[in-house]
Amino acid sequence: ERSELYRDTWAEVDLSCISHNLKSIKSRLPAKTEIMAVVKASGYGHGDAETAKTAVQSGAGSLAVAYLSEAINLRRHGITVPILILTPIQPHETAVAIHYDLMLTVTSAEWFMQLRACKVMNSKTKLKVHVKFDTGLGRIGIREREEWEAIAPWLVQPDIQVEGIYTHFASAGEEDSGYLKAQAAKFKEAAGWVKESDIPFRQIHCANSAAALRFPELAMDIVRIGAAMYGYYSRDHAQGLRLKPAFSLYSRLIQVKRVNKGEYIGYDNSYRASEEEWIGTVPIGYADGWSQSLQGSCMLVDGVRAPIVGKIGMDQLMIRLPRSYPVHTLVTIIGKQTKDEITCMELTSYSGRVPQEISTSLTSRITRLYK
Ligand code: PLP
Repeated sequence: ERSELYRDTWAEVDLSCISHNLKSIKSRLPAKTEIMAVVKASGYGHGDAETAKTAVQSGAGSLAVAYLSEAINLRRHGITVPILILTPIQPHETAVAIHYDLMLTVTSAEWFMQLRACKVMNSKTKLKVHVKFDTGLGRIGIREREEWEAIAPWLVQPDIQVEGIYTHFASAGEEDSGYLKAQAAKFKEAAGWVKESDIPFRQIHCANSAAALRFPELAMDIVRIGAAMYGYYSRDHAQGLRLKPAFSLYSRLIQVKRVNKGEYIGYDNSYRASEEEWIGTVPIGYADGWSQSLQGSCMLVDGVRAPIVGKIGMDQLMIRLPRSYPVHTLVTIIGKQTKDEITCMELTSYSGRVPQEISTSLTSRITRLYK
C-alpha cells in the first residue's frame, strides 16, 4: 500500500513491460536460442526476484547474476532455473554454489588448483562451469592459448561439467561494429581450441542485448539479455522493436513558493532567480541515487517539464515551476505524464551515464512497487 511507504517518493516497476520486452526479443531470435535473463544488481534496480520470476514466465530459460550472494538470494526466493554467476567466486565458496545448484564462471587453472587445495568438493555432485574468454573487453577471462591449455586438464575431471563457453563484447552498441567483429573472430578461434582439446560443452554464447538485436547470427545457443529486457532501448537502438521501459519514479511536491528576482536557491547559492519564479521542493536527493550529475535535467509536473535548479541535496532538490501548484502535486521523475515522458535513456545526456546506471543507482531508500 502506497500510503504505508511513509515517504513521498517511490518507484513503480511494470512487470508486464519486462514480459512484453522479452517476448519481443525472443521473436527476433533463432528458435533454438535460449534467453538468459541478466538480473544482477537487483535486476538492474528493478528488483531481482520479481524480475527473475517474470523473465522465466516470459520465456527465459536461465538467469545470470554477478555474484554468489545474488544467486543465493534468487534460490531463497524459490527460483529453480539454471543460474550463471558471471564473476569468478572464491574457490572455498564452491560447496555453497553446488548446494544451491549454481553455474560458475571459470577463467584460470590457478582457480582450480586453489579449489583442489581447499578440498571443499565431495564427488557426489558435479560442479557446473562456463569457461570465460576475454576477447577484447579486458576484464576477465582466458586470453591466450597457453592459458587455455593450462585450464583444459582441470575441465575433464570427473566432478566437473562444462556447461558452456562464453565471451562478452566491449562495444556491441557502437555504430562501428569493427571491434565487435574482431572479438567475434577471436572467440571463434578460442572455440576452436576447445574443440581441438576435445572438451565437450553444452552451450556457446557471446551476445548481450545490443549484439543479440543487431547481429542475430551471433545469437548462438544463449543470449544474455539485460538492458533490452528492462526496455532501455529506443526503437532505433532496438532495431525497430518497440520495447517498453518498465521503471517509473515518482514523487510529490512538499513545498511551493514564489521567489523574487535575485533570490538564491540551493547550497552554495548555486541558482539565482532571474525573475519572479515559482519554486517547488521535491523529496529526493543524492542519498537516493539522484546524483548531482543530474543537475539541469527536468521532472514532469502537470505534464510540463520543470528543470532542477540549484544543487541537488542529500534528500531534497528544487525545481522551477511554470506556476503555483498545491503541495502534494505528483512529480514524475522517470516515466510518462500526460503526453510527455522522461526516460533513463534521456537522462544519460545530463549524467553522462548509461541508462542502467540510473536505475541501479537508486538506493533501497526508494521502495519499488510492482504492477
Ligand atoms: N553478459 C555479461 C557478462 C554482462 O556483464 C552483462 C551486463 O553487463 C550482460 C551480459 C548483459 O548486458 P546488456 O545489459 O547489455 O544486455
